[in-house]
Amino acid sequence: MPDYLSRSPVDDAEEDPDETTHLISKSTQTDILYNNENSPIIASVETRAMKFRNKTLHDISNTTELTSDSLNTSTEENCTTSFSIEELIQAQQNDNYAKNILNNIKKYKNYIVKYNLLIRRLNHPAPYVPQGDLRRTILQIYHDTAANGAHFGRNKTLHKIKQRYFWPSMYKDIENYIKSCILCTQFNPHRQKTPAMDFHGPITPTSQRGNKYIISLTDVLSKFAVTKAVRDNTAQTAVQFLKEDITSKFGTPRCILTDNGTHFTSTLMNELIKQIGATHLYSTLHHSQTNGQVERYNSTMNAKIAALSNLNKTNWDDQLSFVTFNYNASIHSSTKQIPF
Ligand SMILES: [Zn+2]
Repeated sequence: MPDYLSRSPVDDAEEDPDETTHLISKSTQTDILYNNENSPIIASVETRAMKFRNKTLHDISNTTELTSDSLNTSTEENCTTSFSIEELIQAQQNDNYAKNILNNIKKYKNYIVKYNLLIRRLNHPAPYVPQGDLRRTILQIYHDTAANGAHFGRNKTLHKIKQRYFWPSMYKDIENYIKSCILCTQFNPHRQKTPAMDFHGPITPTSQRGNKYIISLTDVLSKFAVTKAVRDNTAQTAVQFLKEDITSKFGTPRCILTDNGTHFTSTLMNELIKQIGATHLYSTLHHSQTNGQVERYNSTMNAKIAALSNLNKTNWDDQLSFVTFNYNASIHSSTKQIPF
């Protein structure tokens, strides 16, 4: 199967597979909060050290051909919080991957250290960006903001980012980020459909047959939904749903969008998704607006599920199939879209 790299070869900033496998960001919103807590608050007073670093940063720009806005991306118009050089240095020092390189810099010929900043040697030398919040900020700046990204496709976004920053899994992260951008999907009819999988519940009361949750797969474009009443919200249940109720009936979705719930990030789930050849996209990692939009897409169905559970009847799982059928019938008649 050709991957996105072979379709679009990029000769600099080559990926080291060993680096990427464990470094593809799967950060959750809690990770990001955690990282924020550990990041120093940037004071508005410029210390002498800061002045020195700001000056030296300018020197780095000259000597290594970093583009002038490489560490000073203004995104005020979209309220995306950018970060300072201080924050980047601090984040590198808190990052195990960077720490290892910094401590053994002679062994890592691909990296140099300038003014406390770990920089990857490339055609465009670029500072290493640690896992977590900063990577997400960069993706937002160069894809989402009107000034810099304006929802350009993968190649343009990659081109912009790699001139300024480096991290080992950046190609895959950019690819996933753009694939999971609802706005891009919405306005590009040629782009593949993206079904979102979710658990709803626990629903009270538990049904007579012992069902407590509803698992759903909703296509964000056609809004077509498949639902099933299930006993629990475990990875096993999600895998079983995907096998028995989706791939055997509708074929294999090319990618599946989920949140970062443990049932969706489990090894079991990743194995199945790999087996069927689909790409797993994590909505919380990617677009701040993705979750909200998926929720909005699902809101009609969610309202129906809520109404179902508010009836407080133990046979709500019997009614689920009728509710879903009616929902899909009305969606289908308005959009004329084929599911998935
Ligand atoms: Zn987009």
